[in-house]
Amino acid sequence: MALSEINLLSDNSNPLVVENFIGGNFVKCSKYLDSYNPSTGEVWAQIPDSDSNEVDEAVRHAKNAFPMWSSKTAAERARFLIKIAESIEENLEILAAAESRDQGKPVALAKRMDIPRAALNFRAFAESICHHLNISNSIPEMGCLNYTVRKPVGVAALISPWNLPLYLLTFKIAPALASGNCVVCKPSEVTSVTAWMLCKLAKDVGLPDGVLNMVFGTGLNAGEALINHKDVNVISFTGSTNVGRHIGQIAAKSIKKVSLELGGKNAGIILDDADLSKVIPATINSCFLNQGEICLCTSRIFVQRPIYEEFVQRLVQETKNLKVGPPTEDVFMGPLVSQLHLEKVQSYINIAREDGATILCGETVDELSLAAPYKKGYFIRPTIITGLADSSACMQEEIFGPVVCISPFDTEEEVIERVNNVKYGLCSAVWGQSGERLLRIAHKLHVGTVWINCWLIRSLDMPFGGMKESGIGREGTSHSLELYTEETTICYKF
Ligand code: NAD
Repeated sequence: MALSEINLLSDNSNPLVVENFIGGNFVKCSKYLDSYNPSTGEVWAQIPDSDSNEVDEAVRHAKNAFPMWSSKTAAERARFLIKIAESIEENLEILAAAESRDQGKPVALAKRMDIPRAALNFRAFAESICHHLNISNSIPEMGCLNYTVRKPVGVAALISPWNLPLYLLTFKIAPALASGNCVVCKPSEVTSVTAWMLCKLAKDVGLPDGVLNMVFGTGLNAGEALINHKDVNVISFTGSTNVGRHIGQIAAKSIKKVSLELGGKNAGIILDDADLSKVIPATINSCFLNQGEICLCTSRIFVQRPIYEEFVQRLVQETKNLKVGPPTEDVFMGPLVSQLHLEKVQSYINIAREDGATILCGETVDELSLAAPYKKGYFIRPTIITGLADSSACMQEEIFGPVVCISPFDTEEEVIERVNNVKYGLCSAVWGQSGERLLRIAHKLHVGTVWINCWLIRSLDMPFGGMKESGIGREGTSHSLELYTEETTICYKF
């Protein structure tokens, strides 16, 4: 079935049936899982519930395809990736509609962010791989020439989460394929549809069979089988810290290469000279874009005391105006991804209440006056909380939803200490006017990325990743090579 023939209006009685993609063929599975439309709470797709049988087949095909794919030149491989990028761009509308329906994000956001970024992932890694493979030096006094060659690792297992489904999965597929590996992917069972669509595009552009394989299903069945497979040489995982910790242990036992992109508890720091007319809209984005379901979203805000009251009052006022509703409409926020996730987010708001906090805004679904089909959707309004101690679970643990806690601070030293006082270290955003002060703070934060007077501006050439329990490893056009290739030094004495 071509992409254009896929019926995105499928429903409970006629769900979309997703297939595994193994060895260049779309194959059915003996068992299926229900996948829910977060706007309505109805089943809209069925996802293969794969286990070790499907994973074995996929890994076997990837292993067989590896000698052929890895012996192509970087430029030859890049040509396939560019074709996939073009194909994603041509199918922007349907991919964005599917991503929105599956994940809950506004269609407009998927069109502006997720799908263009998926295309950019293929384009950027295709272009960069042609220039990044080898380095050399010489030791003239010993008559030696040293150089290194990078070789693909083999079969890569790529496991991704539900928040930016195609965006994050392609950030793994593109570098792995560009550098000559064959891949077996296991997307999140909560949002599998656009990964399946990508396989259709890859097949249409003639990507050789076995190079890209997609096995759908749960972490416990398909995921476990994949990370434990003896013929998998490298694992790239993006997801929660707990699952990442487990995957790290499995990888260590069999000495597989591994990269872990995990959770965060990101802080915004608003200094007393910050320009609030710029900070407020940017902070609303950083807290609530994609329903707050971005690992880089701000979930703690520290505001210097002289501007604390004004900041809180203006942020609450503008947040109350945000439109929440069905993601097909012109809204800022759609529903959360699942009932389970909605309950998790609500449980943190309850913890905040028990810890004596003030909930300044964040009405429940009833107050949204949603039309009938959406009454059972997983909607929640963006929530702002004040009055919590740093020790509260809401200030320490990842909530991963549209909830932010705000607290005042007095000195630079104090805020640095409080921002660093969590187990995570993914990113921070610092706002102010004095370059000296901003840089002094940025250098002392224990995080992988600091944005100064901005948020979520990403160049794929820059290393991306987290410190502490936010992960191990960095991804980017040159940094992903560390994971997906092995380097051999060759010392040639004349
Ligand atoms: P999750 O860890 O529950 O699942 C992620 C993926 O791992 C899914 O495909 C899941 O099926 C699979 N999985 C689960 N158990 C497994 C197992 N035992 N073996 C193999 N695979 C297994 O995470 P999630 O709920 O899908 O995503 C949310 C989390 O992802 C948040 O913590 C968020 O911060 C994190 N995240 C991090 C980044 C980053 O770049 N650091 C980006 C996006 C999301």
